Amino acid sequence: MGRKLAFFPNPYPDELLYSVFARYHVRSCNISTPQTLEDLFGSPSTTLDDLPSRLTDLVSRLPSQTAFTPAKFIQEHTMLPYYQPFIAPEWQDAESLDACDDKIRFRLKSMLYKIRKRKDLHQTLHYCPKCFEVDEITYGEPYWHRSHQVLGVLRCHQHKSWLINSKIKLKPIRPRQPLISLGSSRFSNTASARSNCNTEPEVKLHDLLAKQVHWLINENYSGDVPCHPTILQNRYLYYLEKMGLICRDTGSILNGELQRRFEIFYRDQFPTDIGYVYDGSFSTNWLTRFFLPEYRDHRPMIHLLAMRFFGIDPKEILWDKNETAEPFGKGPWPCLNKVSEHYLQPVVKDCSITKATSNTNLVSGTFRCGCGFEYERHGPDLSATNRTRFNKIVKTGDLWDKELMKLYLNDYGDVASVMGVPQSFIVEKLTSLLENKTNKLPVDVFIETRKLYRNNWQKMCEKLLRRQSVEVLDWRGEVLQRWLEKYDPEWFQENCPGAVMKEPHMYWAQVDEKLAKMVGFAAEVLKQKMQKVSKYSIDKVIDEWLNTNYLYRLPLTQQVLTSVVESNEEFALRKINALAADLLERGEPIDPSEILNAATISSRIACNMAPEIKSIFRNPN
Ligand SMILES: [Zn+2]
Ligand SMILES: [Zn+2]
Repeated sequence: MGRKLAFFPNPYPDELLYSVFARYHVRSCNISTPQTLEDLFGSPSTTLDDLPSRLTDLVSRLPSQTAFTPAKFIQEHTMLPYYQPFIAPEWQDAESLDACDDKIRFRLKSMLYKIRKRKDLHQTLHYCPKCFEVDEITYGEPYWHRSHQVLGVLRCHQHKSWLINSKIKLKPIRPRQPLISLGSSRFSNTASARSNCNTEPEVKLHDLLAKQVHWLINENYSGDVPCHPTILQNRYLYYLEKMGLICRDTGSILNGELQRRFEIFYRDQFPTDIGYVYDGSFSTNWLTRFFLPEYRDHRPMIHLLAMRFFGIDPKEILWDKNETAEPFGKGPWPCLNKVSEHYLQPVVKDCSITKATSNTNLVSGTFRCGCGFEYERHGPDLSATNRTRFNKIVKTGDLWDKELMKLYLNDYGDVASVMGVPQSFIVEKLTSLLENKTNKLPVDVFIETRKLYRNNWQKMCEKLLRRQSVEVLDWRGEVLQRWLEKYDPEWFQENCPGAVMKEPHMYWAQVDEKLAKMVGFAAEVLKQKMQKVSKYSIDKVIDEWLNTNYLYRLPLTQQVLTSVVESNEEFALRKINALAADLLERGEPIDPSEILNAATISSRIACNMAPEIKSIFRNPN
């Protein structure tokens, strides 16, 4: 602990920490900033930013009658409170900041750095001429107010007068930065912050922003914690939806319309000073991003503008405690039963919400629709599209089940995408539906059904064998297999694919012979068409599945395949040869570069194959 200070100026309400130090500087009669920094922090090279980590040093040096803590300094005299409602809760509490470890402090600092880089504050110190007078009377001296330094604030919230730009640079406190108190400065080239043409709505907007900024900085901290940023995001979505700015079908934000309305709303009100927000037109970019969870924006001014656009007071939206009904926005919610007529229509009114654990914001909601479909969704919603996606189906309901059965019995192919669920879910669901059905069948019908299923199974096995993919069952096969395993296990044992294939050697030999011929033929076709001969292109020509997993059972085919498949280089040479031969036949001159061009030979191959290509051009055959 260093030497105690002989005195320390009493900080005034809303006074910038810089201002307090500047007043100390003047009263101490120090000549240079480093001297003052040495007094206050014990080191002449101290640097302070908006989250001054060195404040502990300062507090330890304060005269013992002052009751200041670093947290109190941060809360009452830095710009941090301006950002607090928009950052994660573990950083919102200045008391915990005081105790927080270096890692969190570092993250917060780097975030604040990012925010500052975007120029959230005026470049130079601003003050209100009326406050100047009033403070002189009240406190005996004027001082720099925090709430006058925010970019976008051009008027005093209290006196509704235009701020004055002192032209003194607002920078982090460091040894080379002069400490200039408002009272001691001789301003020669100040300028009014008033911009040229101020319409009435513009002035009104300024007054409102000034008031809200002052409130954020000075009054938001009545010991109550604002809503979590995620909840805030979620509330914005609610307002977007209320304004019809969310597409009912896809759940995404209607960006064009949003931008148009924002423009209309803020038309003629915007000073170009808030350059990052408005430079003649609103950039769709930030407006769109602002409402996306992955681009969560910490710039408070943008939040204020968005809130005003929605017609809500910051206090109202930030401190609304009614969170329980909101993680999923307001109902009714869309029905996600893909086969119902009201799919994606907001018809679901029944939603019960459970909190995942008490200390997180994660919740889980169960939504029940009149059509019998029930789904579960995890929240809170981070984007509007969340509304149209479920995490789990709790109950499918009769309507859905009947449709699934219908598609299954009609041999419909892509059932999963029609029903809007993964294939594995279809298999599970069908298995249990078929079991329910089977359990209720009278004996004679059961025997009929079993006959049908056995028949289906055999047909399927034959088909699979023809395609040489005995091991691969599709989802229908899986459903069938599950049924047979349960209701006809002995027969199934005898008739599962291995057993179906009575004479596998004979079978594979036949396939091999046939395929080998086809591969040879396909290669010829490809060569005539001037196409590359590859496994892939052969496969396409013969239109029969050339499953490379089974090539070990097809020695003849493999042999033919190896002999006909071309490398890129071989294919290139073949093309060049053919083109050259063609020119020769027509008696035309052979232009190498033209041929290379016509043959679309890549420069890499042309380079690798240079000697071979040259020899072709020398004596084309
Ligand atoms: Zn004022
Ligand atoms: Zn429904």
